[in-house]
Parts: sequence; structure tokens; C-alpha cells
Amino acid sequence: MEEVTFEVNLRRNLLHPKLITLAYRPSHCPRCQQDFDDVVIEYITLDNGHLLVIRDVPALRCRTNGHEYILEETLNKVERLLELEKKQGIQPTERLSVPVFSLKKAA
Ligand SMILES: [Zn+2]
Repeated sequence: MEEVTFEVNLRRNLLHPKLITLAYRPSHCPRCQQDFDDVVIEYITLDNGHLLVIRDVPALRCRTNGHEYILEETLNKVERLLELEKKQGIQPTERLSVPVFSLKKAA
């Protein structure tokens, strides 16, 4: 059970938690039949406790209701990149510094 949870967390995009994976590109949004726009999103995920940002990830967004989809082949590329990163086979294009706050310090 623990392993399954870990797998799901690895693949989760923290910026787009409702992103749905599609095996192929449909002509219209499967949920509301509206047209899609091709968009580029950032994929932010946790990997072994550290935060990773992947830019330039193509996705589909339904024009009317904003439903978001990612194609399985794109997700496979994301996973290959994460594997490469784990083996230190790829260098990041840049590093970000992220502010961290504690709610205990807030008045
Ligand atoms: Zn839709």
C-alpha cells in the first residue's frame, strides 16, 4: 500500500493536480465536448523529498471549462527525464531559490 501511494505522489503535478492522462489526442474535451487549446505548462513534482520543476511541457486545456489533459507519451517523457535526473544523467537548465515560511511566525 505504501508503495502505491509513493508512485502516485511521484507522478503528481503539484501545480496542476487535476491533470488527466490521455492515451491519445481526442478531437474534443472528453468531459464536455468543447474545443481544446494547446498549452505549455510547468510540471512541478516531488522526487525523494526534493522539488523538481520541468518546463515546456505540452498539455491540452479545454476552452470553455479549463479541463486539463496531458498525453501519455508526454508523461512518459517526464518520467524518463525524472529517471535521468535520479541517475544524475542530466543537468538542470537553472536552479530556483524558493522562500519557505512557518505559520508559527505569522502574527
Ligand atoms: Zn472540458
